[in-house]
Parts: sequence; C-alpha cells; structure tokens
Amino acid sequence: MEGFKHVTLVELKELALAAKADLQAAAKSVGRDIKLYLHWSAGHYGSFFDDYHINIDADGNVYTSTDDLAELKAHTWHRNTGAIGISLACCYQATSNNLGPEPPTKLQIEAMAQVVSVLCSALGISIDTEHVMTHGEAADIDGYGINSGDPETRWDLLFLKNGDKWYSGGEILRGKAVFYQQTIKI
Ligand SMILES: [Zn+2]
Repeated sequence: MEGFKHVTLVELKELALAAKADLQAAAKSVGRDIKLYLHWSAGHYGSFFDDYHINIDADGNVYTSTDDLAELKAHTWHRNTGAIGISLACCYQATSNNLGPEPPTKLQIEAMAQVVSVLCSALGISIDTEHVMTHGEAADIDGYGINSGDPETRWDLLFLKNGDKWYSGGEILRGKAVFYQQTIKI
C-alpha cells in the first residue's frame, strides 16, 4: 500500500537505534520508559493504517508508516508519548468469542514476536508487562477494556485464536518474543 515501506528485521533494528534517543527523551518527559503497544487493526488483511508505526500483514511481512519510530502517533489512548504502536492487519468483524473471517495468522503472530524482540533489544527495554502490552491490556488498566461497557472499548489481542482464554494473547506474544530474543541474532 502507498505510504508504507516493507522492512526487514535488520532495517527495523537500524530504525529503532536511530530513534532511541528521541524515544527515551519523550518517554522521560512523562516519567516513563519507552513502551511498545501491540494492536490488531480490526480491518482486513493487507490493509494498513498510519496510526501505527509498524503494520504486519497476514504473510508476516513488516511495513513501516514512517522512517522515524519516535514520531508521535495516535494508537493507544493516553499512552502514545515515547511509545511505538505495532499492529497486525487482521480481525475484521472479530467479536469477543470469535475472531471472525480474518483472524491473526501464525505468520503474523511470529512476525510480531520477532519485531518485539528486535525492538526491545535495540531500545534497551525488557520484554515484560511493564514495557510490552497489548492494547487490550492497556485498555483494561485505563478503564475501556473488554468488560468496561465503554462505547470505545478495546480488546486487541485478548486472545490469538478461537477457543483460547481471554488475556492469553499478551502472554503468548511476550513469551515468543523472549524466545526469539534468545535465539535470533540480528
Ligand atoms: Zn488498538
């Protein structure tokens, strides 16, 4: 799609290193560490959005919407400063018990874990709930999660495949990211 650039994990690492000082300064200005927020788009495979720094397609290919990962983007309410938004292009018509006709693919899930691993290494943050959170998890903390009744409710990545427990998505993604951090050398 126009305006989005395919990147390799090596290129992503370079972008992260280039943006690190600016991200650190922005995060520090609000008393935080750099954070990563993990989303799904609730749109179609192959459909990317400028709200996220990084979009991941159904085939696992990774696309950036900017060359500056420190650019402020509107992906996670009240949490955008010093944060990077990463989204899976999927989950059109998903409901809280059925991920619909375009669920996250295996390739997307693995690619997101690899992206998290590369970014956390480059940015010097650990892969834990403090620094890497799904939008669903952040929304729960901020009062607009799955059970909130808020009209703007968000529950991105609450689970990754039908039948999985609610809240398993973030744990699985962080677990895989830790595995990749220990096994892939970039
Ligand atoms: Zn989201």
